Order: sequence, then structure tokens, then C-alpha cells
Amino acid sequence: MAAYETHTHEYDVVVVGAGGAGLRATLGMAEQGLRTACVTKVFPTRSHTVAAQGGIAASLSNMGPDNWQWHMYDTVKGSDWLGDTDAMEYLAREAPKAVYELEHYGVPFSRTEEGKIYQRPFGGHTTEFGEGPPVQRTCAAADRTGHAILHTLYGQSLKNNAEFFIEYFALDLIITDGACTGVVCWKLDDGTMHVFNAKMVVLATGGYGRAYFSATSAHTCTGDGGGMVARAGLPLQDMEFVQFHPTGIYGSGCLITEGARGEGGYLTNSEGERFMERYAPTYKDLASRDVVSRCITMEIREGRGVGEHKDHMFLNLMHLPPESLAERLPGISESAKIFAGVDVTRDPIPILPTVHYNMGGIPTNYWGEVLNPTAENPDQVFPGLMAVGEAGCASVHGANRLGSNSLIDLVVFGRAAAIRAGAIVDRESAVPATNQQEVDKALDRFDSLRNASGGTGTADLRLEMQKTMQADAAVFRTDKTLAEGKDKMGGIAAKLDDLHVTDRGLIWNTDLMETLELTNLMPNALATIVGAEARKESRGAHAHEDYPDRDDSNWRKHSLAWVDGNEVKLAYRPVHLEPLTKAEEGGIELKKIAPKKRVY
Ligand SMILES: Cc1cc2nc3c(=O)[nH]c(=O)nc-3n(C[C@H](O)[C@H](O)[C@H](O)COP(=O)(O)OP(=O)(O)OC[C@H]3O[C@@H](n4cnc5c(N)ncnc54)[C@H](O)[C@@H]3O)c2cc1C
Repeated sequence: MAAYETHTHEYDVVVVGAGGAGLRATLGMAEQGLRTACVTKVFPTRSHTVAAQGGIAASLSNMGPDNWQWHMYDTVKGSDWLGDTDAMEYLAREAPKAVYELEHYGVPFSRTEEGKIYQRPFGGHTTEFGEGPPVQRTCAAADRTGHAILHTLYGQSLKNNAEFFIEYFALDLIITDGACTGVVCWKLDDGTMHVFNAKMVVLATGGYGRAYFSATSAHTCTGDGGGMVARAGLPLQDMEFVQFHPTGIYGSGCLITEGARGEGGYLTNSEGERFMERYAPTYKDLASRDVVSRCITMEIREGRGVGEHKDHMFLNLMHLPPESLAERLPGISESAKIFAGVDVTRDPIPILPTVHYNMGGIPTNYWGEVLNPTAENPDQVFPGLMAVGEAGCASVHGANRLGSNSLIDLVVFGRAAAIRAGAIVDRESAVPATNQQEVDKALDRFDSLRNASGGTGTADLRLEMQKTMQADAAVFRTDKTLAEGKDKMGGIAAKLDDLHVTDRGLIWNTDLMETLELTNLMPNALATIVGAEARKESRGAHAHEDYPDRDDSNWRKHSLAWVDGNEVKLAYRPVHLEPLTKAEEGGIELKKIAPKKRVY
């Protein structure tokens, strides 16, 4: 094996990722005096969270009546009854606390006249257990909410002496006797290797949107945490559920927040019809995302698309007062100008459903502890490892996430992971010793990719994967597209053995870094298509044309995918049906959240 210059670090906790989830976890760990390192491949405030526009959901009732039970109900219904009840209760109950904490840390939220945090309507968020009018639950800092949160959390983490390792790329986990004991990283600017030994490793590496051709996510969203976990022999959960956001800008895929519809924007087809009124008579343009994306796709299929090729739709904001556009939606006014050449005060924005969010990920309990499920114990915890944010699957979003429920997931579960680590990490015990065999394994894998000299370029193989996923694991799926896609993806994944890396350098070698990322994207993509092929029902974002109905008796269960090379092994684990708190002790009544038909 090649010799690499290696440095060793020792911490109580190492957090991989500095997006909203990673920073909230880092801050919470550091506040409790745990020696905490945060390792990140991009500068913290460049993480994808910075691009979150619309806002963060919490039942503060600043704009009208609201409560955590209504928020929980909406989340359960949004998840199409696949989310875990305990985790969804934890999310909805802790959300107000987590938002007030953000306020006190210094997040510059938009304000109401009386100075309270401003809240806007968002899709799928309602009152009276889905029977009342839409609620204003989404707290916002104009349309730059993620930006505001990320900068605040980074500043607070520094203040609390968290240590940052910026532009360090995590390669693989170190597993010792059935527990995670650290992570091996490549320092991008000088090519040195770094072994972080720790009592707890937290994966906060974000989603894998870039497994698809057109996505709103950053190019860095490559599912690295999922890749590392798969290589460690642990499963990924519910990967077939991929959210398409209804309003990506046609052509570029750049996001126009759902807040635009929250503020009164609406969709029209080639006949100028507000078609959502036909599909979702109550909540119209503010139906859940999977529903709106399907309606747009159906309108286009039926020949009512706009533009030369009749292949997209219009989002109209022209009727909104220019002052409110400037105050509440300045960022998207700018994006529409740059990416579609549209002045939103005069013309509609051309939009198309675009891959946006991964409901699936690394299975965890609601403390963020990673699960290593077995048939006997589906909730068994894998010691030393946590996962939070989009990389994880707690599961609160089930088969479909509601808008503004991800930012709240980041801070609620980032915080929960810190609370849990504060309780279970022994500050006095020694940090695990370096497991040289595992370090060598990670460096060997790195070295063989660095010297890969086969016949397939990384960019070519990535494109092949992205196009296949886009075509065969799309908004609508059929037995035929999924079977073809699964077959094709098997062949594409096999070509990882034939990669050709052009640059052998160790410093800022982008070809090598993209190759490592591709080896992480691939297991995520494979698990997605294999999981989708197996699930013979329609639920949330998984709309199967050959099985158009939800099938609770056979399919109300989480899928688990173990990916080994280009092989995927599937199993299932039960959905948690029990809430944390019984109704008589102030919890939600179970009959309120019992499965029913999901209409908006
Ligand atoms: C355009 C856009 C707008 C959105 N708007 C909203 C919204 O308004 N409301 C809402 O609730 N949700 C929104 N979402 C969803 C939400 O923003 C994301 O789900 C969330 O930000 C993900 O946060 P995260 O902390 O899990 O990961 P990210 O913010 O993606 O951060 C991942 C971190 O992991 C690090 N990392 C990854 N791999 C490695 C590695 N191998 N080594 C070292 N570090 C690594 C990266 O450097 C980064 O710091 C939006 C998403 C997009 C794409």
C-alpha cells in the first residue's frame, strides 16, 4: 500500500458536516463541554442549507391559532403514514423551543408589526387536523432563512470553542468491534491524511440530490454519509422516496421557494387555468409537494404545458404588490431574473418539478442514534454513530416531506443528538485508540481510486447514472421503467471498477474528489431504484402507475437496503405506531392520526 502522511486527532465527538444539522449538533455538543470537532468538505456557510429560502416550521401561533398537535397531524399526513409516530411527535413538540433558541442565538427572523417572528403559509400546513384553513406556521428570514440560520450557528459554534476542520473530506468510518470509533479524512489543500478517533461520530453530510440529472441541490450533495454507512455494512432506509419540488426554474433547476405560493402565487397551464383548483379544491396551490408535482406532470402529459415544447408550467406572482415581493421574496425575484430572464412583477416564471429532497437516509431513532436493525431487534442501536439532517432518516418525513419541515428537522434532531451525547458520552474515558487496520483499509481504497486507470471517465459515468435515475425513478413510475432502471443501474454501478482518474495529485485534485463522491452517490442511487422497484404501491413521493393506491396492509413499513458493490439486499422494519406521550397524559389521540385517504 502507498504511504500517506497521517496525522491523528482525539475528540469526544466528531461531527462530519457543517450544514444546519451538523452545526446545531456541533454547537449543542460544545455547549456541554464535550471536546468537539466539526469536519467539513466545504466552508461551513457554503453548505447547502445556505440555499434554503422559504422557512422553518414551528407552531408558534404568532399569526393565528396553532398548536403542536396540528403540526404533528400535518406531518403524519404529509408522510403518507410512513413516518415514525414517536419521532414526529418529538419534532412537532420540540419545534417551538428549537426556533426560540435560534432566535436567542441571533437569527434575524422577519418580524410582524408587533415584533414577533413572522410566519407564512406553506404547503400541507393546516389547522384543525386538516379540516380548517391553511395555517401561517413557517418562520422566515425573508427568503434567505437557511442563510441566516447557518451564519448564526457557525458564529455560536466558534464562540463555544468547537474546533473546525474546513475542507477536509471524510473518506470512511472506522469500525472497531461493532462500534464506530472514528473517521478517516483527506485534507484537500495539502494532501495529508487525518485520523479522527472519537467516542461518538455524527454524520450530518446532507442529501444525495446529485444522483439525479436535474436537482435543486448543490453539487456537493453527494450522499457521502450514506456511502460511508453502506461500506460499513449498515443499511439505508426508505430510499425510494425522493421529493420533486413543483417549482424548479425550467432549464436550470434553480429553486423558487414554495413561500412564493405561500405569499399568494399560483400556477397556470397553457389555457391560463389555475389547474390546482381542480385537483385540490381545498388547499389548491398549497397542497403537498408530491401532489402538486404530479398534477403539473399530468397537465403536461395531457397537452396543457406552456412554451414552445409545451413541457413546463407558469408560476404567477405578477398580481402581488411589488413592495411585498421586495420585502418577502427578494432572493427569488433575483433568481427569476438571472435564470429565466423574467421580471416577476410583469411575467410568470417558467417552472418544472425538480429533484429536491431525500426522505430516505441512514435510519436512526429520534435521538439521532444510528440503527443496525435485525429481524429480532429492528430498533437496535449501532454504538458510537449518529446521523442527523437530510443524511438521516428518523423518520419524520416518511414518504413525503412537508415544506419547511426540513430546517426544523435539522435543528430539532441536531439538538437531540447533542442532548443524547451529553448523556451517554463518558467525558472521563479514554478516546479509542487508532484502529490501524481500518485506517489502512480506507487509505487503500483511496489509493486504488487515485490510481484508477480503467476506461471510464468519472464525469461520463456520473452523467449516465444521473440520466438513468432521472428517466427511470421519476415523478411517476411503472413496473417497466423501474425494472429497466434497476437493470441499467446494476450495469452502471459495475463500471465503478473500470474508472479512469486523470490526476494523480493529492492537493486540490477535483477529479479524485468527484470520483470519491461518485462512489458515494452510487450506493444511494442503487438503493433508491431497487427499493422503488420492490415497493408495489403508491405512497407519498413514490407514485407507481401500476399500483395507484396506498396499500397499508402490505406496505406500511420502512424499507432497508444493504448495498454491497452493485448488489442490494432489501428487508423491512415496522413503522413506529406508538406516540411518545399517551393521550391521557397530554399527547395526541391516536384516532386523530389514524390512516385515511390523503386529499388536500
Ligand atoms: C434550494 C433549496 C432550498 C430549500 N429550502 C428549504 C426551506 O425553505 N425550508 C426547509 O425546511 N428546507 C428547505 N430545503 C431543504 C433543506 O435545506 C435541506 O434538507 C437541509 O439544508 C440539509 O441540511 P443538512 O445539514 O442535512 O446538510 P447540508 O446543508 O447539505 O450540509 C452538508 C454538510 O456535510 C458536509 N459534507 C458532506 N460530505 C462530506 C464529506 N465526505 N466530508 C466532509 N464533509 C462532508 C458538507 O461540507 C456540508 O457542510 C431546501 C433545499 C434546497 C436544495
